[in-house]
Amino acid sequence: MSAAKQQRLAHGLLITGPDGVGRQEFAHALAARLLCDSPADDAACGQCRSCVLFQAGNHPDLARVEPEEDSEQIKVETIRTFIDFIHLTSQYGRYKIAVIDPADAMNRHAANTLLKTLEEPPAGSLLMLVTHRLALLPATIRSRCQIVMLAGSRSPETERWVAERLGQSRYSASELLSLARGAPLNAVEMAESGSRETQAEVLRNLQEMRQRPFDPVAVAKRWSEIGVEPVLRWLLAFLGEMACLKLRAPVETTSEPAFRRILQPLADELDLRQLMVCYETALRNYRGATGLISLNNQALLEEVVIQWQESGSEARG
Ligand SMILES: [Zn+2]
Repeated sequence: MSAAKQQRLAHGLLITGPDGVGRQEFAHALAARLLCDSPADDAACGQCRSCVLFQAGNHPDLARVEPEEDSEQIKVETIRTFIDFIHLTSQYGRYKIAVIDPADAMNRHAANTLLKTLEEPPAGSLLMLVTHRLALLPATIRSRCQIVMLAGSRSPETERWVAERLGQSRYSASELLSLARGAPLNAVEMAESGSRETQAEVLRNLQEMRQRPFDPVAVAKRWSEIGVEPVLRWLLAFLGEMACLKLRAPVETTSEPAFRRILQPLADELDLRQLMVCYETALRNYRGATGLISLNNQALLEEVVIQWQESGSEARG
C-alpha cells in the first residue's frame, strides 16, 4: 500500500491471485484505507466517519459492481450506472472507488463500455477489478490496468496470521499453509472443516488401490460423501504433483512431507502418460461437477477411480 501513500496509484488496478488468497479482502482494505479520514500507516483507522460508513456498506464514494442476482454476468446496464457514479464528484473529497468483482463476469459489451473509462479515468477515481481468472479478461482491459498479483505466501507474517485465527489447533500454521498452497484463508478453512484428515484419507485410498483391488463403487460412494468438488480438486493437486515429481520439475506447490512420502512412490510406479490420462479424466469430471448442468456425482468419481485402477494394472502387467 505504499503506492497509495505516495499518491501514485494507477486509476485501474487488476487484483488477481488464486482462490483463498484474499483478493476481495485486499480490495476492501485498500478501499477503506483510501477513503479513511485519518489512516494510520497502511490501514484505515476504523473509527472515523468514513470508516463507519464503509463498514456499514453505505459509503457514498464506494460502489461495488457485481452480477445481478439472477445472472452470472455483469451486464452493460450495470457498468453504465457505475460509470455515471464514478464521474460524480467525491462526496468526502477523497477517492471515488468502484470494486468490480468478479471482473471476469463482465460480458463483452460491458467490458467494451468499461474500456473508455479506463482509458480516460476521471480525476480521483479508482477502479479495482477483482478476478482469479485473469486470462478471461480482454487483453485491452488487462493492458490498461496495473496488475496486483496476490501470491500465496508462506512468509512468517502469513503464518502468524493463520496461527492467530487457528487459536488452539492440532495443526501447525505452516503445515496448513503448505497444504493450502500458501492461501491463508483456505488454510484456516481447512483447519475448521477438518479437511486435512479427509485429504489424507483420499490420498491413502489412492495408495491402497495400487496395492490391492478395491470396489470402485464403494470408494466413489465414500468420496461423494466427502464432496465431489473438494475430492476432485485434491485429486487434481495430487496427480499434478505426481507428474511434477515424475518430471523432476521444481514443485512450486509442495505438499507436506507426510503426503510427499506417499506421492513419490506412486509417481515412480506410474508412467507419465498414465498419470496424464488420470489427470485429464479428473479435470474433465471436475468441470462436470462444477458446471451448470447437474451430473451424477458418484458416477463422475467412479470414472476417476476406475481410470486410476486401470493405470495400475497396466503398470503391473
Ligand atoms: Zn478512518
